[in-house]
Parts: sequence; structure tokens; C-alpha cells
Amino acid sequence: MAEVSLRQLSKVYAGGVEAVSDVSLDVTDGEMIVLVGPSGCGKSTTLRMIAGLEEVTSGDILIGNRSVVGVPPAKRDIAMVFQNYALYPHMTVGQNMEFGLRMRGVARAARQQRVADVAGQLGIAELLQRRPRELSGGQRQRVALGRAMVRDPQVFLLDEPLSNLDAKLRVQTRGEIAALHRRLGATMIYVTHDQVEAMTLGDRLVLMEGGRVRQVGTPREIYDRPANAFAATFIGSPAMNMLSGDVRGGQLTLSGNPIRRPVAKSIADGPLRVGIRPEHLLFGSRPGVVSLVELGGAEVVAAEYLGHETLFRTSLAGHELLVRTANPSVAIGDRVLLACDASHVHLFAATGDQPRVEEGP
Ligand code: ADP
Repeated sequence: MAEVSLRQLSKVYAGGVEAVSDVSLDVTDGEMIVLVGPSGCGKSTTLRMIAGLEEVTSGDILIGNRSVVGVPPAKRDIAMVFQNYALYPHMTVGQNMEFGLRMRGVARAARQQRVADVAGQLGIAELLQRRPRELSGGQRQRVALGRAMVRDPQVFLLDEPLSNLDAKLRVQTRGEIAALHRRLGATMIYVTHDQVEAMTLGDRLVLMEGGRVRQVGTPREIYDRPANAFAATFIGSPAMNMLSGDVRGGQLTLSGNPIRRPVAKSIADGPLRVGIRPEHLLFGSRPGVVSLVELGGAEVVAAEYLGHETLFRTSLAGHELLVRTANPSVAIGDRVLLACDASHVHLFAATGDQPRVEEGP
């Protein structure tokens, strides 16, 4: 297995689209790193440059400390698993899986042994004689994974491998990929637009937007301390409530309503973005919670009962806030006091890249 490093990697496509801008990243040996972000943010282009399927415009890619820019894909010691499986339809599962080994001149007996081993690990040994069209989507994806595994590559690259599967199978296969990663101890770079998939699979996430990296961190780091308003709203479901606030002399207001949330004197007067996750909003005050911030009276506009919790849409001084709570005793039309623990109020600059506003001591 190997480390992968990207150094100021950029890609400008013919026609001038800058798909990837100045991406630097160190993936450690054995890590599962997930490139995540909305469609068109440059995830696939980044992965395809690592694979050697796309030329690099500038910057460098190192696999195990060796620069691979200019090295053909077959010589990079990587294996890629695609969304559409890319299996050869006229070959059996076994032939598909051993194809890469055959191209490398591995002897027949060794190939078959290796295919049998991997098929056993993936639970597809009984499928080796079938053709891809005789398989379900989940089985095809397993064969595609198997084909990558037989070569025992230094790095696995996975491009939205679950997106053609139905919801239930996606969850199951996601668990299998996580288990496979643990068992193989392999370096894996995984691309998805699905933040839940990213959160559940990644040791670390690389959050991308518009070709640039907006934050790198463990799922928990990004959830707890999003580096900017984009990270705050992209990670977490339902998304973080984002309100327009204002600071005047250390006092935060929302639409002119002061909320009892003093902010550090180091924060300059002016507009701010104020983020609060739906799961951190409370109805009413909580005696004993010292750091409680009361946001003010809100009206309950809609409710979605989900069994284990309810999502309430509320309106507070012209702001819409989603509240996620296990307490369903509130009804549409009720007036409620919205509150939140002060440590769960995130502040971001209102301009530029909207970075997190740090409150000094
Ligand atoms: P993602 O994988 O995050 O959806 P991509 O890496 O596929 O994003 O695309 C990033 C940007 O590059 C998009 O604006 C896309 O339209 C553009 N793009 C992708 N492939 C090509 C190509 N072959 N030629 C020109 N532009 C492309």
C-alpha cells in the first residue's frame, strides 16, 4: 500500500473550464479518504488525474513518493472502480476478474488461484461462470471490486461506486466496502456527492466546491467545526440553518432582534452568517443549562413526523428554521420559544469565502 500526495494540482480542460484548482492533499498509507462535494466540483477529474486517465495541467501527483505525472495508467499500480462497473459483457465473471492479471502475463494457475481467493472473500465464488448481464447490480459492483482486488494494487480509486444501486443495497454495499477497507488495510480514494456516504465511509473527507478544497478533516471535525459556511451547510442532514445576523458592540442580532448571545469583542461590527444545526435547536428554555441562548418566539409552520423524531419548520422574525427533535408535543400554529446551547451557534463571515469567525478568549 502507499501514500498519495497531490501538490498544487490543477486541471484546465480544453475550452477553458478550470475543473480543479490548486489542490494539495496528503493521503496516508491505508487511509480511506473521500472526495465529496456537489456535482461538477472537480471530484472525478481529481480522481481521473490520479489514475492517469486525465492529463494534469499543473502540479504533481506522488504515489508512494514517486511522481506519476506522465506515467501511463497501467504503470501506476492503482485500480479503479467505476460507477457503471465497466465489465466486459462477453466475458464471464471469472474472465473479467482475471483480465488485468492476464494482461500482465501472470500464469494461468496463479491467476485462477488469485481469482478464487478474491471471489471467496467477496462471496461471489458461485458467480464466476456467469456473464455480467446475468447478475444483479449489487453483484456486478462486487465483481468490479473483485477485479480491482485481484491485482493487489497500491491504491484503490472508487468513483461513485454505489450510485447505480437502489437505496437498500447502497447501504449494505457501503458497509461491505468499509469492512473490505478495514480488512485489506488498503489506501482508498473514494468519490461521492452523497454526504451521508462520505460521513460513514471516510477516515477523512476532502470537501470540494468549484474545483477547490474547502475543508479537509474527519467527519466529526467537519461536523463540529465547519471551516466555512459551505462546509457547514453541505455536511449534515437536514442541512444547518443559516441566518443573516449582525454584530454591534459585541451583541448579536437577527433581523434587528437582539438574541442573548454575546460574541467576543474581537469580532468587528457588521453582518455575519449564523449557523445552527436543526438537531441543536430546542423548544423552550432548559432550566440548569447555563449557556442557553434564547433566539426568541417562533411560529411552527409545518411538521414532518418521522417516528423516532420530528422535523418542525418554524418561522422566527422572518427567518425559517428547521428544528429536529424527538419531542413531538408541539403542533402546527403553536408559538414556541427557540433556544440553543451557545456552543452550537456557528458564526461565519458574510462575505468572500465565508470563513468561520473564530472567537478569541
Ligand atoms: P464532479 O466529479 O465533482 O461532478 P467533474 O470533475 O466531473 O466534477 O467536473 C468538474 C468540471 O469540469 C465541471 O464543470 C465539468 O463540466 C467539467 N468537465 C468535466 N469533464 C470535462 C471534459 N472532458 N471537458 C470539459 N469539461 C469537463
